[in-house]
Amino acid sequence: MLQSRDVAVVCLWTLSRAFCLAWAPDLIVNPKKSELGSLHYALNNSDHCQRRLIVSSLKLWSVSVEDVLGQLPVDPVKENYVRKVKESIFSHVYPTPFSSETRLVAFSEDVLEGLLDLDSSVAHSSDFLQFVSGSKTISGFVPLAHRYGGHQFGVWAGQLGDGRAHLIATYVNRFGERWELQLKGSGKTPYSRNGDGRAVLRSSVREFLCSEAMYYLGIPTSRAASLVLSSDAVWRDQFYNGNVKKERGAVVLRVAKSWFRIGSLEMLSNSGEYSLLKKLVDFIIKEHFPSINTSDPHRVLAFFSTVVSQTADLIARWMSVGFAHGVCNTDNFSLLSITIDYGPFGFMEKYDADYIPNTSDDEGRYRIGNQANVGMYNLNKLLLALNPLLDDRQKQLASAVLAGFPNLYYSRFTELFRSKLGLLGDNEDDLALIASLLNLMEDTGADFTMSFRQLSEITLEQLARLSIPQDFWALHEINQHKDFSAWSSAYLQRLQRNPEDTDADRRQRMMRTNPRYVLRNWMAESAVLKAERNDFSEVRLLQRVLRQPFRRQKMAEVSGYSQKSPEWANRLKVSCSS
Ligand code: AMP
Ligand code: MG
Repeated sequence: MLQSRDVAVVCLWTLSRAFCLAWAPDLIVNPKKSELGSLHYALNNSDHCQRRLIVSSLKLWSVSVEDVLGQLPVDPVKENYVRKVKESIFSHVYPTPFSSETRLVAFSEDVLEGLLDLDSSVAHSSDFLQFVSGSKTISGFVPLAHRYGGHQFGVWAGQLGDGRAHLIATYVNRFGERWELQLKGSGKTPYSRNGDGRAVLRSSVREFLCSEAMYYLGIPTSRAASLVLSSDAVWRDQFYNGNVKKERGAVVLRVAKSWFRIGSLEMLSNSGEYSLLKKLVDFIIKEHFPSINTSDPHRVLAFFSTVVSQTADLIARWMSVGFAHGVCNTDNFSLLSITIDYGPFGFMEKYDADYIPNTSDDEGRYRIGNQANVGMYNLNKLLLALNPLLDDRQKQLASAVLAGFPNLYYSRFTELFRSKLGLLGDNEDDLALIASLLNLMEDTGADFTMSFRQLSEITLEQLARLSIPQDFWALHEINQHKDFSAWSSAYLQRLQRNPEDTDADRRQRMMRTNPRYVLRNWMAESAVLKAERNDFSEVRLLQRVLRQPFRRQKMAEVSGYSQKSPEWANRLKVSCSS
């Protein structure tokens, strides 16, 4: 029989592990002055002893996938044709270069310099353009497509895999962090099924902007290094209504610590490839879960427990910014609990727990308010996949860990929303205070992002008198509710429980937690429409603005990014087509 003590121990243990940070060895090399050439140093603010080595030419930069290749089997078939692959984690396959000219639409200086040790001047070289378009190999380059499966909309879909993505490198940077570089939209692979291996401009702009925006919102996510556009024709029926249109192919260089998904393990488990399953789980633990002892007989249980608590954390964070992923299939759920595979996502505007960002999701399976349920469903699929590696006792414990998911989620959710309201300490009525605010928003259709932001900006004195400044449009919406005044009084009373707290401190705290700008659909759409006319100014403006989502910015204000969405935004639809 399972003891409740066991569960508590596993949960506690999980939480403490989940917040452990990997130790980063100092890998800094120390070249002589005369060798500097095009290298330069800068001081790292967080560690004055550590010198950075940043390279300003791709010729001085090399990558490797040897850590992967040395440990995980690659499909022996080398030809690139669609097939079922067995007993392999990857297939070796080259990207297909575009046949037309390519251009660099945008790049992230922070990813290049911060993660990949590349001076941003590299981005202006033709070597870089070719590299991130998939047409140039560099030292150490061995492109791979990953074999995975997944449950899509609740149904086991069998083998899916990287049908239009290539893992082109792993890179260990100057901080000892290991990053995996992946091109998306870079051509067909053995996993392309009926697809063309390409991604179009509109979805690539959305992924590029949103993954970076999520990072600056403080949400675990893959990053985007570059966005390249070609003139290659890519045919898409954007709304699945028979209206096929010619679009242009684009490719994003995505960067993450790992691209393994729940579907990576399901693929092996569901095909009965248990020894490979064990090998992959051990590889993932060794590379990405440094606090788990690789020889611990309970390591798989520990791994599962960590994924459960980190997934609860991720979904609570999504909710805290009103983010709906749109396609929470198990193949889109990272084992490192980062947000991956941006498709028909959306940021909820008027508060609505039934908000469905993806117009192809008829039943609303992935509506915003169902994300935690779906997270638990996906974790259950992960547990089923891991079952062959667990003994009976471990299976029982793992089920108990999974049963603890709702608690983990709610406590994280409460913590995040407590801080969105600037509340210090905890009080048993906090969840009710949060819930009743959300109810008021729901009843009035008030804007989620700006209601919280304007609560951060308003003074308590103004709130007490309900003297809401004219341009605080979201608070005016919520104030239409007859109960807002009672809610405000309860909120003020709760704040008074911390007499040492000042209003200025509260506002500062809340403004660091509640963004003024998120990537609303209309903003992405406006940037896409311009990009389709080869005007990339708004892509770059949004990239700049969303880098500091908590800071009021003049250009963002002029562009209406903190205003109520324009009327035409109501007619916008985003589908799975990408
Ligand atoms: P997604 O909906 O982007 O998460 O993709 C689900 C699966 O379909 C993955 O296996 C993708 O690699 C594959 N896929 C999506 N679009 C394409 C495409 N245009 N060509 C080939 N495979 C694709
Ligand atoms: Mg996907």
